[in-house]
Amino acid sequence: MTKSDITNKYPGFFEDCEIGCFCGWLELIDRTVEKVLSVDPSAKAKQIKEKFGRLRIYASCNKEAYQIILDAEDESQYICEACGTGDSVRLQPGHWLKHYCDDCQNKRYTKGFLESVS
Ligand SMILES: [Zn+2]
Repeated sequence: MTKSDITNKYPGFFEDCEIGCFCGWLELIDRTVEKVLSVDPSAKAKQIKEKFGRLRIYASCNKEAYQIILDAEDESQYICEACGTGDSVRLQPGHWLKHYCDDCQNKRYTKGFLESVS
């Protein structure tokens, strides 16, 4: 699954917004947008990014959809932002706080890593 697979799947929601986090969270985002649109079909994303190691989704939506987004932001800390695994994920030290699994943490400063997860 790529970022454009998701933005193409929900063109209305992603009309004004790109996905600004790494690809490990795409499955979470896909699930979340599906739920959000089921309770608020006119919801629209404003910004999606990583902040302080967690997924942040800014959207115009109703209250019920907003709660779904808050739950997804909480869940993101248990999913590796780089590879999507739920195993050995923790807030890892570095220039930038990231919820990575230990494998990705070991690779994060190697050549090609950022390209492979962006
Ligand atoms: Zn990982």
